[in-house]
Amino acid sequence: MLHCFRDICAHQGQARYIDKSIKFVDTPEVRWGNEVHTAFEQRVAGGKPLPLEMQAWEKYAVPFDGRPVQCETWFYVDVDGRACDRYAKNKFGHGKIDLAMIEGDNAYIADWKTGNSKYEDPFELAVNAVLLHVKYPHLKKIVGQYIWLKDDRPSQLYDVSDTRSTWGEICHIMQQVTAWRMAASFPKKRSGLCSWCQRYDCSDNSNPDKPE
Ligand code: SF4
Repeated sequence: MLHCFRDICAHQGQARYIDKSIKFVDTPEVRWGNEVHTAFEQRVAGGKPLPLEMQAWEKYAVPFDGRPVQCETWFYVDVDGRACDRYAKNKFGHGKIDLAMIEGDNAYIADWKTGNSKYEDPFELAVNAVLLHVKYPHLKKIVGQYIWLKDDRPSQLYDVSDTRSTWGEICHIMQQVTAWRMAASFPKKRSGLCSWCQRYDCSDNSNPDKPE
């Protein structure tokens, strides 16, 4: 959601996350992504071999054998930037981290990716680092990386330890969303992504699947 408002288009974000007029579509790509995440969770946390079609990615699971990892774990943060539980009245946000490993005051985050690596941006890892840090405030260093499975390569290792500044950026995005909401006007951001957008009532929508 933060990525949509920050990088894609606030007008689309309004339809997806506020009005919810864009319904979630369970595409083959979404299903494949879910299968891959489940397979890695079962392999890394439970020792179950990866399915045959994913065996080539075993090398990305092996390094975590016998290590203290948390897989597909939800984390919650309240309005004051503190850890809270799922149903806390003052909950601000939540997120699921694909894999987190904590050793002493160091942490590592991995994010399995089944999509295209062309527009890599460490922001998602940085947001994950905030969620991890609020739960484990003793952490001093947090690094993270994407594992681009289609390209069969890990990303560079990003230092995402500066969670204070990421928290500031998250709050700034949400203040902006609040301001747009109060003005009942979410600006459009026209780009090549307009041809993938499912906000069909937008006059800039160029999605070939747009209903006539
Ligand atoms: S079509 Fe383009 S401008 Fe319109 S909501 Fe979608 S992304 Fe935004």
